[in-house]
Amino acid sequence: SAKPADMAADVWDRIKDHPCYSEEAHHYFARMHVAVAPACNIQCNYCNRKYDCANESRPGVVSEKLTPDQAMRKVVTVANEVPQLSVLGIAGPGDACYDWTKSKSTFDAISQQIPDIKLCISTNGLALPDRVDDLARMNVDHVTITINMVDPEIGAQIYPWIYYNKRRYEGIEAARILHERQMLGLEMLTARGILTKINSVMIPGINDQHLLEVNKWVKERGAFLHNVMPLISDPAHGTHFGLTGQRGPTPMELKELQDALEGGAKLMRHCRQCRADAVGLLGEDRGQEFTLDQLPETIT
Ligand code: SF4
Ligand code: SF4
Repeated sequence: SAKPADMAADVWDRIKDHPCYSEEAHHYFARMHVAVAPACNIQCNYCNRKYDCANESRPGVVSEKLTPDQAMRKVVTVANEVPQLSVLGIAGPGDACYDWTKSKSTFDAISQQIPDIKLCISTNGLALPDRVDDLARMNVDHVTITINMVDPEIGAQIYPWIYYNKRRYEGIEAARILHERQMLGLEMLTARGILTKINSVMIPGINDQHLLEVNKWVKERGAFLHNVMPLISDPAHGTHFGLTGQRGPTPMELKELQDALEGGAKLMRHCRQCRADAVGLLGEDRGQEFTLDQLPETIT
């Protein structure tokens, strides 16, 4: 496929085989997620911790948690069987930047075995500024930050608490800290030339109109893509929002917002809200073929 006329050649080089960053590439290149990040440092009202991080995945899905060594064996096995594999991501089931030892040793081990695989991570952003130097050193080329607000008053309706610097913060104070850390992390990544995708969960009546403002802020700070995802609020999965009767947007409302955002930070429209252990092309999930019990004991 051809480089869009308005894109720099070096940027094109880095996205052309990433199925999430390039709409073209998603037909030809595969990604896989390894679920090595169990814990999280914030609480989102749309999340139920028993399941995968809803920032990147559909709620109500449980991925098989792996140790860094198991993850490495899984990636090598998949790489041998899925020739289109180009990207390895850590997207949960909790926050990939919080328990850093696990994410970091996973990336280190995998890039030793498969030096040309692209590394990608997703995070709520709270711990991100502390990880940027490591991410740059490990050649992590793509980072997804979930940013649902730039106004702490709105944030307080989405995040009941955060855990930061060994203590718990609540309400507007919590949302303000999270907001400042997200903006700082985004600016630091942009300064280092790392490509960023911003995920926003569209929550009708709470942040739907506000996401226009979010789009402006992230564009000004160099975000490469903005991906608006619908809230999937299912009382059966016990999320706080589900219990309060908060609904998700209709497909029409989602499309209207996406249309209103055209012209701001570039929009992603082909996200599939993959599981934290997804394997394969977008829209196909071969994760069940590569569960732990099917992996070889050692890598030769
Ligand atoms: Fe859940 Fe992810 Fe939010 Fe943490 S960041 S509470 S895992 S949705
Ligand atoms: Fe790509 Fe969206 Fe799937 Fe993440 S959740 S791997 S951005 S399609």
